[in-house]
Amino acid sequence: MIFELENSINQPVFLSKNKGVELFIKREDRIHPFVSGNKYRKLKYNLIEAKKKDFKTLLTFGGAYSNHIAAVASAGKTFGFKTIGVIRGEELNDKVNTNTTLKFAKECGMHFKFVSREDYRNKTEKTFISNLEKEYGAFYLIPEGGTNPLAIKGCEEILTDDDNGFDYICAAVGTGGTISGLINCSKPSQQVLGFSALKGEFLQQDISKFVMKTNWKIITDYHFGGYAKINEALVSFINQFKSDFEIPLDPIYTGKMMFGVFDLIEKGFFPNGSRILAIHTGGLQGVAGMNVILKKKNLLLIE
Ligand SMILES: *Cc1c(COP(=O)(O)O)cnc(C)c1O
Repeated sequence: MIFELENSINQPVFLSKNKGVELFIKREDRIHPFVSGNKYRKLKYNLIEAKKKDFKTLLTFGGAYSNHIAAVASAGKTFGFKTIGVIRGEELNDKVNTNTTLKFAKECGMHFKFVSREDYRNKTEKTFISNLEKEYGAFYLIPEGGTNPLAIKGCEEILTDDDNGFDYICAAVGTGGTISGLINCSKPSQQVLGFSALKGEFLQQDISKFVMKTNWKIITDYHFGGYAKINEALVSFINQFKSDFEIPLDPIYTGKMMFGVFDLIEKGFFPNGSRILAIHTGGLQGVAGMNVILKKKNLLLIE
């Protein structure tokens, strides 16, 4: 009951000037057309568990542009689960056919429950969950962003023995599940750098709950003002990166991470001779939705 996966290759990124470091990007975005990058890794063992326990329905949570919502909807369709998405924002009820992520999820058969931002905050509370069970019957619950111990187990498979020679592993951080898996499977000689995609001091603590090692660090200088906040410098960088290396990045996670990696290289953060592996965690389904917003505001689009 596992996806057919494409190989996730380490693609070299040849910097225009010699900066004394080597940079590779692990193309996890290429492993599956819809359940891409870390969202596949995070779902894998959860889907196995849900099947084993004979659940027929998956229920999860997310915002209007969530890569996780898109991934769960697609995985449900592929493996024969009903899917329910509890979506933040009642107003989105009217936007299912214009919001690219929700439209895709709906086409995969996902049923939506739209809740107010206030109610959404209570989504981990017992009464909130038991009300959902009254409404929908039994379901396998996957938390927002997909992070739980089985998700971290899946993310421990991102690095392989071939990656042992890298000194730095870099990845974007949302809930911290992916970076936790990377830390757990890293070598003691490696340093794992998480680039936070949002403002939040809570991340450090969240990650500490899932990992024993100390060879990691969260970098908070490249969130661009917060979750899903972007500016023209970031969009220009993403477009330039794509034209230079033929690798698309998303504006919410991988674009910010790569912007940070380039900036740190420029500033001499990495010692001479460092070998850096940046993880492309996917998220490209979100580009179309972001472009709709940028277009409305008459701003530079992501190519
Ligand atoms: C969800 C997501 C992340 C963040 O992963 P966490 O495990 O929540 O930290 C990073 N990159 C992409 C592309 C994502 O979709």
